[in-house]
Amino acid sequence: EKPGLELAVVSVPSYACQRHTPLLHHNTILTDALSILAENAELSENEGRGVAFRRAAALLKSLPQEVRGAEQLRGLPCLGEHSLRVIKEVLEDGVSHEVETTMHSEQFKAMKALTGIFGVGAKTADRWFREGIHNPSNLQRSGHTLNRAQRIGLKYYDELNLPVTKPEAVAIGQIVERAVHAVLPGAEITLIGGFRRGKQTGHDVDFLITHPDEGREEGLMPKVVSWLEAQGFLLYQKTTGNSYLESKEGPARPASNMDRFERCFSIFRLSTDNEGREIQTGDGPQTYSPTLTNTDPHTHSDTHPHSKTDSHPLPQTLVVVGDHAQKVSRVLGHSQCSGPRSWRAVRVDLVVSPYSQFAFALLGWTGSKLFERELRRWAVHEKAMTLSSHALYDRKRMQYLRASSEEEIFAHLGLEYIPPCDRNA
Ligand code: ATP
Ligand code: MN
Ligand code: MN
Repeated sequence: EKPGLELAVVSVPSYACQRHTPLLHHNTILTDALSILAENAELSENEGRGVAFRRAAALLKSLPQEVRGAEQLRGLPCLGEHSLRVIKEVLEDGVSHEVETTMHSEQFKAMKALTGIFGVGAKTADRWFREGIHNPSNLQRSGHTLNRAQRIGLKYYDELNLPVTKPEAVAIGQIVERAVHAVLPGAEITLIGGFRRGKQTGHDVDFLITHPDEGREEGLMPKVVSWLEAQGFLLYQKTTGNSYLESKEGPARPASNMDRFERCFSIFRLSTDNEGREIQTGDGPQTYSPTLTNTDPHTHSDTHPHSKTDSHPLPQTLVVVGDHAQKVSRVLGHSQCSGPRSWRAVRVDLVVSPYSQFAFALLGWTGSKLFERELRRWAVHEKAMTLSSHALYDRKRMQYLRASSEEEIFAHLGLEYIPPCDRNA
């Protein structure tokens, strides 16, 4: 036996994109604590602090075993002074005083509640908090003028804060597929975001759309949106066009983390079936139910003044089972404006990419957010390259590096390939 093996520190690389980070790991108690502090920093618009806590948490998520004592942390990267202090506190006392104080602070609770409204960011929430608005009901009563997104966000507050399950994501995927294929046969739809990383729930569902014949995807989004609207599937949508070509900074040098694909932030109206039956859709007209028509008056409120959904029988879709079904029906039953109903609101993000950029878009939209950040940081600092969701640019050779798969991008970056399920940093 090698002497001192039990003390040997496993060598852990310092960038999250060099490590495998599974969804389930051994240090949840510690990472939950650090995540609260990260979230608080982000809500206070202290991005740097937020990233430091997120990096420390990501390091712990990648460890092959539970950390039981501070001595096991020696030699590990990414653990700043503050994070280490919190970790030690939790290891010794079971809780961190700072985390407890943060979690129960009026400001943190209010900021979480307010930014939990779709369309409300930290800046707006902070302004409202300082006016004494601490929750959605306060806001409702305040008489503040809200934009369309925020009005919808407030209206569907409870259900938009209810996790979206995998079966619900699959059902949404079937609808998206029908919409896309109706307007562009041969287009390819890929589930991205958290669900691609193997998460069982998400705050939304994300899809990437492309077509093998480059150029055919241009202008696709408005057509898809029109189809979805005509069928009564959308409660809200905001589409932004592709601004990649017009941008002045040049490709792969986005001014922010925002990319410039054709994109749609939306809220779907997903039918729920109380018996928990799953009805397959997407195989032609026989899947349209003649009985399940859109009779809910609220679909015709401010969101779609012109939609004529009555004339279209709605396809059945759902798909909620067990505990989740009960939770959903409880929320829907208590929903302030509608009473019990047979559908729920779900946040959906759609992105369209040209085929030649698909691998970059796929990598950039699969996440996690920290994993993406770490990839870009690795590219710049270790490889003198610029990575975006559109392209990879080698600054020394002054050329773009092509890739038709994620594997090729990792190879260009000199990184071991990390599959989506291990990008949960
Ligand atoms: P959740 O399950 O909570 O939805 P998620 O990982 O899917 O988790 P999202 O916020 O849906 O989180 O983001 C998915 C991916 O899309 C992330 O990798 C993120 O970097 C990317 N992304 C999100 N918004 C943008 C944006 N505006 N511009 C570029 N990329 C974005
Ligand atoms: Mn998502
Ligand atoms: Mn998203």
